[in-house]
Amino acid sequence: MAEKERIRSDASSEEKKQIDEARKQARLAKELEKIDEEDTSMFWADQTAREIIERVENTPLLKKQVKQQGYIIYDEKTPSGKIHIGSGRGWVIHDAIAKALRDQGVKARFILSSDDIDPFDKMNSDLPPEFEKYLGAPFRDIPSPVKGYENFGQYYFLQCVEKFEEFGIQAEIESTGDAYDSGLFNDTIRTALNNIPKIKAIYEEINKKDYNKFPFNPICEKCGKIGTTKAYAWDAEKELVKYKCEPTYVDWATGCGHEGEISPFDGNGKFPWKVEWAAKWPTKKVIYEVAGKDHFTKGGSRDVAIRICDQVFNYPIPLPSKVSVVEEINVKSEKDKKITDNKSKIISDIITKIYEPGKAYEFFNIGGKKMSTSKGQGIAFSEVTDILPAYIVRYLLIRSRPHTVVDFDPFNRNDLILLFDRYDKTERIYFNADKEEENIDEKERKQQHRIYELSHVGKIPDKFPIQIPLTYASNVIQVGKDEEGAIALLKKSGHLPDDISGINRHYLMQRFTDAKNWLERFATDEYKFIVREEINDDVKKQLAEQLNDKQRKVLHLLAKDLHNTRWAELDLHNHFWKVCEQEQLDVKKFFAAAYSVLINKARGPKLANFVLTIGQEKVAELFKDA
Ligand SMILES: [Zn+2]
Repeated sequence: MAEKERIRSDASSEEKKQIDEARKQARLAKELEKIDEEDTSMFWADQTAREIIERVENTPLLKKQVKQQGYIIYDEKTPSGKIHIGSGRGWVIHDAIAKALRDQGVKARFILSSDDIDPFDKMNSDLPPEFEKYLGAPFRDIPSPVKGYENFGQYYFLQCVEKFEEFGIQAEIESTGDAYDSGLFNDTIRTALNNIPKIKAIYEEINKKDYNKFPFNPICEKCGKIGTTKAYAWDAEKELVKYKCEPTYVDWATGCGHEGEISPFDGNGKFPWKVEWAAKWPTKKVIYEVAGKDHFTKGGSRDVAIRICDQVFNYPIPLPSKVSVVEEINVKSEKDKKITDNKSKIISDIITKIYEPGKAYEFFNIGGKKMSTSKGQGIAFSEVTDILPAYIVRYLLIRSRPHTVVDFDPFNRNDLILLFDRYDKTERIYFNADKEEENIDEKERKQQHRIYELSHVGKIPDKFPIQIPLTYASNVIQVGKDEEGAIALLKKSGHLPDDISGINRHYLMQRFTDAKNWLERFATDEYKFIVREEINDDVKKQLAEQLNDKQRKVLHLLAKDLHNTRWAELDLHNHFWKVCEQEQLDVKKFFAAAYSVLINKARGPKLANFVLTIGQEKVAELFKDA
């Protein structure tokens, strides 16, 4: 997994500093391992937060830095088109970690930057063909495909950001292009250009092949494209980069052929991706940034970026990546004795650094191929709320450890019902309102508490809010026809108090919305029904063929009982059995008859509850006329 890097130390203070830093990281890595061993029971976001705090406490530079900036939890995304829900997983993860840090009493900020100065390198199916002419240009310099947005990049990015409130994501939104413009990257650009051999060595060490690129891409002064320029010389004195806008440099865009010399600073261009990733960390003072698996492959962008960050920019690489020194070979020759630290001891001849990129977050999708935005790519973050409420998606992500695959299929049997039921259970556990509370061990209870706290969108209510299971809400809304009708039914059946206001009303309405959405999109036929208004002549004819005398007799008996007595659910259920036994009717045949009369189906929701939901009087009428 980890790769070894051998760095010869010499007497330069910079390298000494690196060695010291590496040693500290090594000690820290050992301590962190201990934490890993001890706290697997901790909730994942809390565990990560603790690792982050430990790292900061043991790294003087970071310790000083957080006093001014806070703990910077950082993520970024190229707004190249509709953004996949998988990236949304990253946002929820970073947000949860920032919240977990704040819960541990430190000032933490989640910053999300739009990589809007990246080149447009691929048409997407939503774009009209005339957009092809923009291929190679930075996203922020391309017009928005939809009116009302400043540019292409802003349009796609805001599609997501506009949903953040619904998802409970608190992020400071930035533009990477603006950061270049304002000169924030100038120092790292200068450092990178002055250290091209080091960067080249890192690439070549990792990729085992020649690196002939330049760690900077200017924006062509003539055609405005950034994907087509090839820089080839850096004049360190004049601080100018020579470049050519190559007609055939890339196969997805055509350069104009312009040759020029340009200052690399203040937004005149950008780093290529891997160097940029490394440069962002010292520039934005990043302490934690994770990404999807594609960036964490062996020899991938994370492997390159953490080495550049450490060796070129001399900044502590952000978690979850770690660097540690595993080997120090003391060489006691007279010559090497000159290499000493301030305590006049030989420090080392060679140090071996181990870089561990850490764990990426895993694949996340909803609805598989059925829900794909374009061929096989899966659903877009901005569109997921069309099918599922954001709080349920957030809950799904928070309850799953980031390095587990989540491929949720709301069409798959009862998976969606179960997910809502689990959310409700987590909520009950949080409010100590779960009937099975005694069966939940302390560890599980704590986990569920944290899951609720970190997945709940908006302020957590002071008291246990009203809960209506999804399937029950869908029954009630179908019987009551709309929200107000449903609320009236629930009040009548004693499931709701007379006064429904504030947070309870909010929760109730949300669940009705969820239920309607579920019925419309995912529920199978067995959950859908229309309650008959009356038994008219046509229905009578139909029922005459379906029901036998015994069934009809039981229905008529029950019509009387429903008319005369106010029933509780369990008593009514038992009464059905009693009457069937008394009349020697197979209870299954009774249920079939009842559903046939009530909803013209062979099956339906649990009958006693259903009868009470519809209302005893109405059911009595229908049974009587059957
Ligand atoms: Zn050009």
